[in-house]
Amino acid sequence: MGTSTVLVTGATGFIAKHCIAELLRQGYRVRGTVRNLSRGADAVCGAVSRAGLDPTGVTFVAADLERDDGWDAAVSGCRYILHVASPFPIEQPKERDEVIRPARDGALRALNAATRAGVSRVVMTSSTVAIMYTATHTPGHIYTEADWTDVGRAGLTPYMLSKTIAERAAWDYVWATPGAPELVSINPGFVQGPALDGDLSTSLQVQKLMGIGAYPGAPAISFPISDVRDIAALHVLAMTHPKAAGERFLAAQGTASLYGIGRIIAVALPDLKSKVPKVELPNVVVRAMALFDTRLKAVLPELGTTRICSNMKTRELLGFKFRSAEDAIRDAAVSLRKLNMI
Ligand code: NDP
Repeated sequence: MGTSTVLVTGATGFIAKHCIAELLRQGYRVRGTVRNLSRGADAVCGAVSRAGLDPTGVTFVAADLERDDGWDAAVSGCRYILHVASPFPIEQPKERDEVIRPARDGALRALNAATRAGVSRVVMTSSTVAIMYTATHTPGHIYTEADWTDVGRAGLTPYMLSKTIAERAAWDYVWATPGAPELVSINPGFVQGPALDGDLSTSLQVQKLMGIGAYPGAPAISFPISDVRDIAALHVLAMTHPKAAGERFLAAQGTASLYGIGRIIAVALPDLKSKVPKVELPNVVVRAMALFDTRLKAVLPELGTTRICSNMKTRELLGFKFRSAEDAIRDAAVSLRKLNMI
């Protein structure tokens, strides 16, 4: 049981709300940063209550990744920080700096404030997108924490760049800064698992779109899959585990294609069989469609490529046991049904 105060940045987010619930279960005191105090606090407390926990002790501070004010007040008195906040838009912005700047500068704002306040350890939510897009892809290569996305590689989306640049900046900062906190990165795949409320992250919005019939056919793309309950538990474990300091942890279990995700949804909720993608679209068709639908441009470099990730380090160093990708996808679908969203 923990008694320290933990700061969770971006408390309104899908992963952050599960982190807060897990911290409360383990007896920690929690402070969250939000952009809008009254709206954010209500949303987080509502979600935490729906998880069966008492949100009374959770406190909130206003802080924006793009502004200096609020960060010192947010970290004051905290022993640990879970730095989860970062923009995760469903559509890529025209201007890539719209996501890179808050991701990178926000991480540095949190770390600088942490150093000033003498915080022990910061656990940062990175992503497998900061790992998998190496300069070249050799078929059969198994991606691990030793791999880094090459930011000079063609075809990376602003979001992929934002996660890679922000994680790099965080490591560079702690290596160069005397008195900086210990850093750990958790690198999830496409995060599924139950939503605590209807404010859906991009990863669950994609499920929702599949469940309401928005994708009659799916491009042939696949993702490593994570369960939000595992990701929250890993953040909290990595916060105190003696072997976690200074390490990256790849946090995905299995891989699923968009079409495969649809199949799992249809098994969990058979009435959606006619809504989920019925076919995997040939790559040539997707390339042609992307001429008219610019949203599809983001998937073009990955068409037909399956990237396999290893979570061996996370399992062995932290003794962590992952839920299956199928459980994560099914439980996401069931939660969206309970929320009347599909
Ligand atoms: P959400 O969109 O649900 O949460 C994002 C959070 O970041 C929100 O609280 C949002 O606040 C906050 N945020 C965004 N921009 C700013 C800003 N300028 N200043 C302050 N806060 C900001 O996404 P997830 O919970 O899914 O993602 C959380 C983290 O996990 C992100 O770092 C994401 O990159 C990472 N991740 C997510 C994966 C997934 O599949 N879901 C996969 C791998 C990594 P507000 O509510 O005010 O908008």
